[in-house]
Amino acid sequence: MSILINGIGVSSGIAIGEAYVYSREQKQIREYNVPAAQHKKEIQRFKKALSRASEQLHEIKNKIAANTPADILAFIDTHLLMLEDPTFNEGTVANIKKLSCNAEWALQLQSKRLVKVFDEMEDPYLRTRKDDVLHVVRRIQNCLEDTPDHIPGAHQLKGRIIIADDLTPADTLMLQHQKIAGFVTEFGGPLSHTAILSKNIGIPAIVGAHHARQLIKTGETLIIDGRQGMLINSPDRRSLKHYRALKKAELERKALLHALKNKPVVTTDGKVITLHGNIDRPEDIRKLRKFDHTGVGLYRTEMLFIEKNEFPDEDTQFKTYKRALFRLKDKPLTIRTIDLGADKELQDAADQGPMAHNPAMGLRAIRRCMKEPELFIPQLRAILRVAALGPVRMMIPMLTNIEEMHLVLRLIEKIKQQLRDQKIRFDENLQVGAMIEVPAAALSADAFAKHLDFLSIGTNDLIQYTLALDRIDDEISYLYNPLNPAVLHLIQLSINAGKKMGIPISLCGEMASNPQYTRLLLGMGLEYFSVQANALLEVKHIINNSKLSRLRSQIKKILEHQSTHEIETRLERLNMRESKKTPT
Ligand code: PEP
Ligand code: MG
Repeated sequence: MSILINGIGVSSGIAIGEAYVYSREQKQIREYNVPAAQHKKEIQRFKKALSRASEQLHEIKNKIAANTPADILAFIDTHLLMLEDPTFNEGTVANIKKLSCNAEWALQLQSKRLVKVFDEMEDPYLRTRKDDVLHVVRRIQNCLEDTPDHIPGAHQLKGRIIIADDLTPADTLMLQHQKIAGFVTEFGGPLSHTAILSKNIGIPAIVGAHHARQLIKTGETLIIDGRQGMLINSPDRRSLKHYRALKKAELERKALLHALKNKPVVTTDGKVITLHGNIDRPEDIRKLRKFDHTGVGLYRTEMLFIEKNEFPDEDTQFKTYKRALFRLKDKPLTIRTIDLGADKELQDAADQGPMAHNPAMGLRAIRRCMKEPELFIPQLRAILRVAALGPVRMMIPMLTNIEEMHLVLRLIEKIKQQLRDQKIRFDENLQVGAMIEVPAAALSADAFAKHLDFLSIGTNDLIQYTLALDRIDDEISYLYNPLNPAVLHLIQLSINAGKKMGIPISLCGEMASNPQYTRLLLGMGLEYFSVQANALLEVKHIINNSKLSRLRSQIKKILEHQSTHEIETRLERLNMRESKKTPT
């Protein structure tokens, strides 16, 4: 009999294959007394388990493909760092001594303490990071008990769909290495490592499929639909036929999109559109290249600061930006100055607390940079210098008023003079632009456009500030909608301002990466999109099959509506009609 199980789809695509239920025995941790005379030996046993766990992670790193991107390997490095973290291991050693207990029990107590700290964090992403603690603890416990860290061999797993309670980043990478067709976990949410990694790797995946291991047996046929977050166990012939056809269509679509790689971006009536990618680090350019050889419309430099957990000096920044520029060959690079604060904070600063009461509205981005010139000036110098080597632009986040913009422009001129005096090579004509991501800036976009070389709309924040919604708060995420007429009005004002002054205006928030909005934005007059790497070809496909003159009038009519729901329904209808005319 078929069974349908729902979970959360975190990586889209359809997989059909045999199930492999991956069950790890979760042993009950027992406490026993270790007399003081034995403490040293017990601590040594714990340290040996730590080294074994570290060896295992290094072995995994060596096994996975050499071209695994650095950001994916970083998941394993996080676990390696945790093994060395004093709060982790010294806390456990202290427990052994204080409670005269065995290492397993001491570690369990310490992990509960750490998990509690994560559980109390406000940021949902950081809350999810308690998974790292649990994964590392499980690995050490296995090493203490000499339980092998075994994932079945490749011959057993190739083409199979893995069902597990939870997967560590190391498990996920090893499974990918063994060419599995997809995976399902009982636990984990959309921000879990499994979710992030599966999307990165491009394997269909579902998380939060409760009781899946009870309901499915190894060897049974499974279908998983990663977009819908649904799995069917022992499907009947009709379902199998239906999903095989869907999978075939999916593969054909992939091939169709792939054929668009490095092709021009132009509407059917001849309008050339700029389509760039968003990156967090120079290494991300490799991912961009997988889809298209294009430029970067948003380089979020704060990652360099957050990952190092310190402010890198001018030369480190210069070298990093140069690496990005050279990787792009002759394509343009838009470097955004640091946007630290709110949800993007250095760990040390976050630890030091107390946080501002309302950090998203506090000392963030350009406000923080202007208040802390020792933080900002090395970056300005590095960007001005790197711009002498190729097509680089500088973008300022979160400008709110014209005075602030003038202060920034004046500071840039001052730094230029410094560089001239020091006879250091830089770009005299560096293009400087602003992100329009605060409603006040959108309402004054005309004034910004008069003094700047380009604008870029940051809808992630623009929606947050226009609708008074914390962008990372799960509770109110249902209200977070780019189609709210007030948001669309501000986007329209910004596009119009750029056009009136004849300067480029792009959109680099998540909205640009969602193909549902591509026709809407084109119809509103947007000619420059900057999107996530994996959205490049989908968005290009829609642009290249759109007739701009027709879209303009259709979208104008839709925008006359005053309700989000009405706009949503009409846009869906338009997308449906248009996609029927588009080859798939
Ligand atoms: C935005 O706000 O839309 C944006 C692109 O910036 P970030 O998401 O980095 O705040
Ligand atoms: Mg922003």
